[in-house]
Amino acid sequence: MSELNLVLLGPPGSGKGTQGERLQEDFRLPYYATGDILRAAVRDETELGKTAKEYMDRGDLVPDEVIIAVIVERLGSPEAADGFILDGFPRTVPQAEALDAELERLGRDLTAALLIEVDNDEVVRRLGGRRTCVKGGHVFHVEFDPPKNEGVCDIDGSRLIVRDDDEPEVIRHRLEQYHDKTEPLIAYYDHRSLLRRVDGGMSPDEVGDRIRALLATMRMEEDI
Ligand SMILES: [Zn+2]
Repeated sequence: MSELNLVLLGPPGSGKGTQGERLQEDFRLPYYATGDILRAAVRDETELGKTAKEYMDRGDLVPDEVIIAVIVERLGSPEAADGFILDGFPRTVPQAEALDAELERLGRDLTAALLIEVDNDEVVRRLGGRRTCVKGGHVFHVEFDPPKNEGVCDIDGSRLIVRDDDEPEVIRHRLEQYHDKTEPLIAYYDHRSLLRRVDGGMSPDEVGDRIRALLATMRMEEDI
């Protein structure tokens, strides 16, 4: 079986993380979510974590070369020999170029960049409906997973609030940033015929089925 080297793209609230975890299970491939890797490094106080924290404490983005070094190290590891799923990287065209250069050095190719598309209104509906428990961090959704009693956590009875991140204005701002940054990446992969668009407006199961069908088709075409 050929390698499956995937990049996941999609706005916040697109269900990218859920799909990444499913792909990880279905294909037994490592799933590298840059945000998780950085948070774990900061928590474990590794060299990377200390470097990253300096930037994050100043409110700056962790620079490309730091992120690239982290990803390069993982792609060269034995667990990624049959493929990998990247989430949160690349985030910029220079990062995409660095990824290409590293894969070329390893004699490998990217299989596809999967773009999970969800329109802005749907993102606001999904993220804006979240209610988080002030004590245990338990998350509910006014529409998709409402608590038994409005404004009260089912698990520990604490008050449910809208996190700052989930305020509609903040979500709109995050979406603007996402679109500004990601459009050039979409064009980059489209130009290389690697972009595959998936309608993320369906249920997670349906989106997962669509992705599996898409990958199966790509493999069949590859075999012909
Ligand atoms: Zn709770």
